[in-house]
Amino acid sequence: MNKQNIPKKILHWYDNNKRSLPWRRKSTKKQHEYFTLVSEFMLQQTQVKTVIPFFIRFVKKFPSLKSLASADENKVLKYWEGLGYYSRAKNLKKTATKLLSEHQGSLPKDLEKLKALPGIGEYTSRSILAIAHNQPCIPMDGNVERILKRVFLLKNKDQTSKENLIEKKTFFSNSKRSSDYAQAIMEIGALICRPSLPICTSCPLTAYCKAYKKKDFAIFTKNKFNKTKYFEAQVHKHKNKYLLIKNKKFNFLKNLIIFPMNEIKKEKFQLSIDKKINIKLSNMNMKITINKNNNRKIIKNGFFLDRSNFSKFILPSFTKKIFNSLHNLK
Ligand code: SF4
Repeated sequence: MNKQNIPKKILHWYDNNKRSLPWRRKSTKKQHEYFTLVSEFMLQQTQVKTVIPFFIRFVKKFPSLKSLASADENKVLKYWEGLGYYSRAKNLKKTATKLLSEHQGSLPKDLEKLKALPGIGEYTSRSILAIAHNQPCIPMDGNVERILKRVFLLKNKDQTSKENLIEKKTFFSNSKRSSDYAQAIMEIGALICRPSLPICTSCPLTAYCKAYKKKDFAIFTKNKFNKTKYFEAQVHKHKNKYLLIKNKKFNFLKNLIIFPMNEIKKEKFQLSIDKKINIKLSNMNMKITINKNNNRKIIKNGFFLDRSNFSKFILPSFTKKIFNSLHNLK
């Protein structure tokens, strides 16, 4: 099997099938860097189709690094509202400020310098190097992992370990079109080598793929939401206003506005007869009991927000989910 043809085949597929995404539109070098930065922050933990409208709205309001760095943080958060994981928006603004003050308004071309910027880890820095600077990097996201697992038919814990997947990544080798190449591989994972029902008939990798030969497409995954935790949320409603607090207590949703909450034991959750909801947050499966009462309670960091202002206020979708579930409460 001639593996030298792999980049050629992948790029041929990409040239004919790539999605028209707003951050891929033709632009100046500076704008391309800025669009890559914003889109990569938004794509952390969020799917492409969800990100598209947020990206368009965001870069319309903040069209450059400078406009983002000088913007009021609350304004930036307002334009991030609904995307979740608000620390990304805060870090993006901090990174914009640092790029202007320490890097002449450009994205560094060095992995360690990129990783030193707020909110940029291993994956995002490699994506930036590949996409914005055309460096030969293939960032390992879920799409790339899935392709490798199928091409090599990797089925158990050892075979799918991070080290082994990184080793197997040499399968792709390199291309001079590094930016397109990295995006092409991720795109094949997203559109063709889908988690269920891969469209192998459209895939440029069939000749190399063991899963295709064996017709075995099942993927070995560790359960992402393996941590189940139990909480009790206190909903105090007084004259159509709800008590909310700035979260200083939990490491998740830090400094964001939530209903007052406690972590509880499983037994207490099971005994409760109140309303219960499930919310998946990061790698946590949260089971939440909602206790509703009409007392006007004073609480540190707390304030009452009028029901009509829920949509105008910057609230994490977590809090909105609890608020929306209240309509079903008796
Ligand atoms: S041939 Fe099928 S299973 Fe193999 S990489 Fe392509 S889409 Fe995935």
